[in-house]
Amino acid sequence: MSENTAGPDASATSPETNLLLVTYDSCRYDVLQDARTPVLDSFAEVLPAQAPGNFTFPSHQAMFAGILPNAGSARPLYNRFCGQLLGLVGVGEMQVSGGAVLGVASAWNAVDGLGRAGYKTVGTGAMNWFRQESLTSCFQSFRFTGTAADEQIGFVLEETSGVAPFFAFINFGETHAPYDFAGKAEQCSVDTRARAISWPPQQASGAVGRDNEAYSHQVAAAEFLDTRLPRLFAGLPADTIVVVCADHGECFGEDGYWGHGINHPKVLEVPLAIFRLDGRAIAA
Ligand SMILES: [Zn+2]
Repeated sequence: MSENTAGPDASATSPETNLLLVTYDSCRYDVLQDARTPVLDSFAEVLPAQAPGNFTFPSHQAMFAGILPNAGSARPLYNRFCGQLLGLVGVGEMQVSGGAVLGVASAWNAVDGLGRAGYKTVGTGAMNWFRQESLTSCFQSFRFTGTAADEQIGFVLEETSGVAPFFAFINFGETHAPYDFAGKAEQCSVDTRARAISWPPQQASGAVGRDNEAYSHQVAAAEFLDTRLPRLFAGLPADTIVVVCADHGECFGEDGYWGHGINHPKVLEVPLAIFRLDGRAIAA
């Protein structure tokens, strides 16, 4: 454990490890499986996991406390009950795993705890929820951008340049409805937002799920983001631990449900990948 001088609250177990958390907003697990993502696939296996919330705000609050999406398989780090990556010392389920790879103390959240442990904490969010200071004030530097992957990557690379250790966070909006991204020609004609639900939910008469037009638009957005990862990863230190996941999924008409913010299996199933950029194993 390296020495730190961040004060009495500083207790990170591995303060020399850089960490990057990336969320593809609303991206379903099956979408990311169907998308051609050779860059992400070259780094790690993507597993299905359960989101810690059904919309952006609670899911990110949970992740900022170390409660990442949880895989059903027993793989450490992918399943925090078998080995936790980031956690708050002495809080909640920290006792279950007996300690996290990055365990920090804070009365606020793990991002604040990392800052107290000497990390530079940098974040950027695409979705409107990242205008809420209760999500962003824990970061030393945060930029709300709207959907703008290239700007977000540039911001993180600039803010982390020459800095160690750091915790960096990016919430990408391209995979959120209406699935727009730079250079996209065709617009999605389907309104997938939860406000399109008629209550009680009625099974849609048209195509749902994989057969719905919106599905292919989210696939295209995920493929676009994969083309942006090389610039991001190449600009970060090789010992950076990376988490790529979604904050929640999306319904495309299954059982009459659309969008997210509701507890449907397609909203709660998200992709999860955890790896080091240099390919070395992470000691759980
Ligand atoms: Zn979201």
